[in-house]
Amino acid sequence: MPEFYVILGKIPSRINNRYTTLHHTRLKINEMFETIQGEGVKTGVPSVFVRLQGCPVGCPWCDTKHTWTLDEAFLTTSDEVLSKTQESEAWFSIEDEALLTLFKENGYQAKHIVITGGEPCMYDLRPLTSLLHARGYTTQIETSGTFEVLCHEDTWVTVSPKVDMKGGMQVLTQALERADEIKHPVAMQKHIDELDSLLARLDGKLPAHICLQPISQQQRATDLAIATCIARNWRLSLQTHKYIGIE
Ligand code: SF4
Repeated sequence: MPEFYVILGKIPSRINNRYTTLHHTRLKINEMFETIQGEGVKTGVPSVFVRLQGCPVGCPWCDTKHTWTLDEAFLTTSDEVLSKTQESEAWFSIEDEALLTLFKENGYQAKHIVITGGEPCMYDLRPLTSLLHARGYTTQIETSGTFEVLCHEDTWVTVSPKVDMKGGMQVLTQALERADEIKHPVAMQKHIDELDSLLARLDGKLPAHICLQPISQQQRATDLAIATCIARNWRLSLQTHKYIGIE
């Protein structure tokens, strides 16, 4: 067994205490690339995406299912992961300082680092985000809100709350309170109602930005999101990278 746990190819049926934050451990990275942030308030910002391995949430529409398992059978080198030509469960392990060296070796120019997954908040991200800010980067975390968010105080936190998913994980109030933006995927009215229930926990202290993002560019979802954003003065988030054909 590795130092914490392995999810062996399946999503557990419900939340349990095995899912604790990974402290003092090396990052496990499934993918890393430079691009333009395509979603949410930071849309358009040149970014390095660091996709961490592991997620027990189990969203049926997930487009990164290859990140779910955290299985040492798929541990490989950074060279192999960075030269992937298609999605796979392969990941590499690296320490924070070495990750910054890898940015330089790859010639990345972007100064905004987006830590995504998978579920990045399975990891204690305070050491990495603090190091990045100390070296002049800005940081952003994209999380489902099902783990405590541990990061630098200036990290931009995007919570896309995942409610009633197969993994049985609960959205944490701490994550909603720490959010700079809540970016909620919507396909139907039920999803707006779910979001309202979550926001009710915040006792009126809402994050600065609430964005609705139509799931899978469906027209009905887009129409619903537009109508709701106008009615509530929320923002519409489109997955612009999918419209312009970039990652
Ligand atoms: Fe996929 Fe994200 Fe849902 Fe995890 S939280 S299953 S990575 S969409």
